[in-house]
Amino acid sequence: MPDTTIRSNSDVVLIGAGIMSATLGLILKELQPDLKIEIYERLDNAAAESSDAWNNAGTGHSAFCELNYTPEAKDGSIDPKKAISIAESFEVSKQFWAYLVQQNIVSAPANFIKRVPHISFVWGDKNVDYLRRRFEAMSAHPIFEGMEYSTDFAQLQKWMPLVMEGRNQFDKFAGTNMEIGTDVNFGELTRNMFQYLAQMEGVTMHFNHEVKKLKQREDKTWRIKITNLETGQKRKAYTKFVFIGAGGGSLPLLEKANIEEGKGFGGFPVSGQWLKCTNPEVIAQHESKVYGKASVGAPPMSVPHIDSRMINGEKQLLFGPFAGFSTRFLKNGSYSDLPLSIKTDNIIPMLIAGYKNIPLTKYLIEQVRQSPEDRINALREYVPNAKAEDWVLERAGQRVQVIKKDEKEGGKLEFGTEVITSGDGTLSVLLGASPGASTAVSIMIDVITRCFTEEVKTPEWQAKMKKMIPSYGKQLNKEPELLHKIRKETSEVLEIL
Ligand SMILES: Cc1cc2nc3c(=O)[nH]c(=O)nc-3n(C[C@H](O)[C@H](O)[C@H](O)COP(=O)(O)OP(=O)(O)OC[C@H]3O[C@@H](n4cnc5c(N)ncnc54)[C@H](O)[C@@H]3O)c2cc1C
Repeated sequence: MPDTTIRSNSDVVLIGAGIMSATLGLILKELQPDLKIEIYERLDNAAAESSDAWNNAGTGHSAFCELNYTPEAKDGSIDPKKAISIAESFEVSKQFWAYLVQQNIVSAPANFIKRVPHISFVWGDKNVDYLRRRFEAMSAHPIFEGMEYSTDFAQLQKWMPLVMEGRNQFDKFAGTNMEIGTDVNFGELTRNMFQYLAQMEGVTMHFNHEVKKLKQREDKTWRIKITNLETGQKRKAYTKFVFIGAGGGSLPLLEKANIEEGKGFGGFPVSGQWLKCTNPEVIAQHESKVYGKASVGAPPMSVPHIDSRMINGEKQLLFGPFAGFSTRFLKNGSYSDLPLSIKTDNIIPMLIAGYKNIPLTKYLIEQVRQSPEDRINALREYVPNAKAEDWVLERAGQRVQVIKKDEKEGGKLEFGTEVITSGDGTLSVLLGASPGASTAVSIMIDVITRCFTEEVKTPEWQAKMKKMIPSYGKQLNKEPELLHKIRKETSEVLEIL
């Protein structure tokens, strides 16, 4: 039989057409326009997994309202370090998106970003006291300037009328409000970025193409085996650098790449669901994102929130996410994803992580067993007058939490993102999903810094980085004047003033 395999050569292969690959591809092309890039995506469209607007919460994570980024230490203190770093990362993303708008790379900003106040809301003495201390710890920092705190019922009603309706004004409540919060349609943004990228010289984009295997050759380049899912046609792509941005599909590909740095990693899938409001009168009454406190054992990304969203030009109202368990790593994945990912080098970390996270397991079992009535009761904690007939259940995206080997504990479940890079800098992979799409730009700059070590130091690349991200190399929280200037400029361009 003649060998009909198609062969191609490139400088960079991006696996997966989500926001991470889009961001990396565009930054690299801006840094080095003659770069040859191939993109492979198993589905027939870009951003159809976690990056799609209906699959994530669309929160421009700036740590303004998400209480899980400011946990309370045993001594009662609240360290805002992680929150500051997330807020700074989001400022980096906004600068890059503003650059894309200015260069006409993406369409009108109103199609993908909107200013929506970010509110934290709690009730009961203990939580009210925590929120006050959190506010004191955060408001001292320039990056959180403008944050307001209130326990006044009338003020809370003004901020979030729908949430306060039907409550007893003599109960104890507290809220913080950040007017400059955002809602982002990451799907729209990603598809826009790929549309531009795909028509650039030197870039080829292949939908319905699944990466099956990858292997490093002796000369350090990579051979990637790909199948066209529509025709069965096989391809072999040869490249100097691979980025595995396959979302939930990244772990199996990392295992196949067989790099030393990738040994011992496992994944734990957590699925999600939303309650979506179908009553336009109710949707019209909510204008913010209101985040509460997670229940005991809940993974950080399952903090309940009631969100005003703008999706494809229509105002929406979503509550959730409700967590669940599925052995799939992708929403469009297979039930054998989890079992097939278990290998001799990750089975021990996975078992230990499972044993150490019993409250999480219990929480997930409770979530899976929830009846429609239980879900409406959970919603009524945030919207006391909610009527069951106004809400329908929708499936959200799938996340794969990282399990990694740990010297002390044997195995650890992580809730953040993890960039793993081969020692020679020829392969990089992104695992995990929080804070996710909001911090895509900082994460991809990290990938470039680790893998293009020499190029990134050159005056040409440094100058281009500063053109795309004016605060490149600076910590905005430590430079309030620069922070003000950049916030003003990006808000003007992104029309979120
Ligand atoms: C319920 C939920 C809520 C979230 N809320 C937020 C939020 O409010 N704010 C925020 O910033 N982030 C949020 N996130 C996280 C955010 O959505 C993700 O971090 C981000 O979208 C990940 O982008 P990605 O490009 O890595 O992956 P994805 O968008 O999942 O893209 C990966 C792509 O790779 C493809 N692929 C997989 N395997 C292969 C293969 N073998 N060959 C070829 N292609 C392959 C997939 O089909 C997919 O298109 C949320 C996520 C979830 C699930």
